[in-house]
Amino acid sequence: MRLLASRLGRSLGTGYRRPKDSFQTLDLAFERRVEKLIFWLLVGYIVYTVYVRRQKEHDHPRRIPEPEDMVRCAQCGVHLPRSEGILSRGEFFCCDAHRKLHQ
Ligand SMILES: [Zn+2]
Repeated sequence: MRLLASRLGRSLGTGYRRPKDSFQTLDLAFERRVEKLIFWLLVGYIVYTVYVRRQKEHDHPRRIPEPEDMVRCAQCGVHLPRSEGILSRGEFFCCDAHRKLHQ
């Protein structure tokens, strides 16, 4: 019965301790178990972190902005993105002053 209790104590990690001669051995075994637990918790945390990061990257990939067409100012010839140009009578201008000058 005593042997069974000590085996159970070992495998379950409960506080059962054999008489003094093996006290140190049990204590060491407990320490190793705690070290293993910490190690696996760390491994689990790292794997989880990497997984979550990959999942985020997969769900929201970094977007590279679409290249925008460039247009040329009909007055001064400077090139600028189409969205920043001023369209007047089918021609683009870099600013309102050049649009007025061109008329
Ligand atoms: Zn211009």
